[in-house]
Parts: sequence; structure tokens; C-alpha cells
Amino acid sequence: MASLELRGCLEKELSEACQKLGLKSFRAGQLFRWVQLNAVRSWEEMHNIPESERRKLQTMLYLSPLKLLREQQARDGTHKYLFGLEDGECIESVLMNYERELSRNRHTVCISTQVGCAVGCAFCATGLGGFRRNLSVGEIVGQVLEISRSIARKDPPAKVTNLVFMGMGEPLLNYEAVLKSLEILNRETGQNIGMRRMTLSTSGVAPKIRQLGRDNPQVGLAVSLHSALDSVRNVLVPINRRYPLRELMAACTEYIRLTNRRITFEVALTSENVKRESAEALGKLLKGCLAHINLIPVNPVAETNMLKPKTEEISQFAGILESYAIPVSIREERGTDINAACGQLRGQWKVDRNESFSSL
Ligand code: SF4
Repeated sequence: MASLELRGCLEKELSEACQKLGLKSFRAGQLFRWVQLNAVRSWEEMHNIPESERRKLQTMLYLSPLKLLREQQARDGTHKYLFGLEDGECIESVLMNYERELSRNRHTVCISTQVGCAVGCAFCATGLGGFRRNLSVGEIVGQVLEISRSIARKDPPAKVTNLVFMGMGEPLLNYEAVLKSLEILNRETGQNIGMRRMTLSTSGVAPKIRQLGRDNPQVGLAVSLHSALDSVRNVLVPINRRYPLRELMAACTEYIRLTNRRITFEVALTSENVKRESAEALGKLLKGCLAHINLIPVNPVAETNMLKPKTEEISQFAGILESYAIPVSIREERGTDINAACGQLRGQWKVDRNESFSSL
């Protein structure tokens, strides 16, 4: 029975497999390119590998493409994909604002790292369903491969250029698989996505932030901060009870020291927390830190009853932060009409009778 997932293998693992099977070592490079560059979905597509050798390889390696269950397109061109996994679980991935990004030759994909999530942030649909399991390396990489295959076939053909690990799940709680996925997706003979074009977003797993600074100083880091007060953060991001602000900020300082990289701090704004005191507290916390703040006007999730603040309230909030010499940006709303925006992914397959299904 084959035990290695082809989409989750680096070239060196494929070389070892080829060696064990008595195949020439150049087959490993061919396999890697078929899977990671051309995103093949079947062994038959690898036509420069003889059938007898493909059969041998299948005794050690299996290819398990994700099953596209649904693809939706938002008014702004954002695409949301619902993928089915081997065990029947579902995950979602998002291709941001495809049409507009086409002109800039930039295509950002947001991927999931877990089925569900144990963190349970107050504004997030993923957390509502609880944690189911970690994704394997092949399942994480597979989301990029499926979307890459899809946009490579469009006219004009396009390529995934940027990645954000901000979909379902807490990436730093599936640390080893996420790190290996970054390595695979960065390979020149595969998707060749620059390490600095990939960003991990964490709710604040302090020990793993420190470890990431040592293990992979090139990848971007975003921290979902949301508040500079433990009492508020305990409610919005419950992992704060385990790693309170003092510990989180110490880990961030250590990360910056190790990497000399700027951290993006994300702050979800609701009509409740868009207050002067909240902005002042954030300003004091981050003043002098190599930081950038990304304000995210909260997206509607039926169960959370949170309301988006008014535009002038958001501008005022940003102005206060800027007075502390902290660069601030306001995240553009993307794909809200198809629940593809931040905090809206659930991975549930609720079949609408009028819904049509497509395949990549
Ligand atoms: S925001 Fe991220 S960490 Fe928080 S519950 Fe949602 S998926 Fe989990």
C-alpha cells in the first residue's frame, strides 16, 4: 500500500523513493515538475514516465487531488472554492479579486491549514464549528495546485504569485506541515512562489512565533491582535488566556530581532471597539515596534451579531494610530457577497437546489 502523498513530497524524498524502486534518479525531478509545476491530477498525465515505472512508483506514492465541490464568484471577481478531502471533510480557499489582479499580473490565494479551528475567535465563522483535524502537507499544497491549474488554463493564462495562510485554521498549530508546504511551494522547479510573497497569519501562538523566526526568517508574519487590552482580547481571541499580551509581544519582539522583518498586526474593527481609547492603547503598545497595522472592518457572520463601523469612525481610528508614527492600512472588503472574506470561511457544503457545480 502506497504511503507517501506525492503532493506533499520534496525532491529529495522522491529521489529516495526512486532509488529504493531501482529507478533512475532523474525521474524524481520529472515527478516533482509534473506534480508541483504542472499540477497533474492523475498518473496518466505524466506521459514522459513509462507506464511500467509509473506502476512501480504507485507502490510507494499516491496522488490524491482535492475534489472541487463548488466554485463561487463574487461581484468583485473574488473566487471561493470548496474542496472535498479523502475522508469526506471540506475546506475552503479563496482567489482574491481575479479580474483586477490580472492587470497587475498578481494573483493572491488564501489557503486553509486545518479543518475547522480550535481557537474560536469571536468574529470568525471557522471557529464556530470547532476543530476537526490538521491538513496534511499534500492537502495544503493541493489547494494552491488546484487553483494554479485552473488559472493556467484561462485566457490569458495566469500564475499564483502570492499566498496568505489566512483561511480556515491556525497555521502555527499545524506548524511542521505548514513549514514543509512553504518549502515545496517556494521550489523553483515547482510553483516558485517567493518566500517573501507568502504570509502566515497567527492568532498569537507565542512559542511558535519565536520558532518561526529561527526556522524561516523569510516568510511574512501577520498577527491577529485586535486589541491592546487583555480583558478584550481574552474574549475576541481566546488563545490570549494562554498567551497573554505580555507574552505575545515578547515573542514578537524576539521575532523582529531574529528576522529584522516588520510584523503586520491585524485589528478587526466593529461598531463596539472602534473607540478612541482602543486606538490609543494600540498606539502605545506598538509605538517604536517594527510594525504595520492592518485595520479590518468586520465582515458579517450571521451568528456573531457584530456590526461594521462607519467609514468616518474607521478613518478617525487610523488617524490616531498614525499619530503614534505607526503605518496603517485599511483592508479592502473582498468577496463578502459569497462569504469569502476574512472570518467568513466555514468549509460547509450546504447544497442549494439552484446551485451549479463546476470542475477545474
Ligand atoms: S480567526 Fe483564525 S485562529 Fe481565529 S477561529 Fe478563525 S480560523 Fe481560527
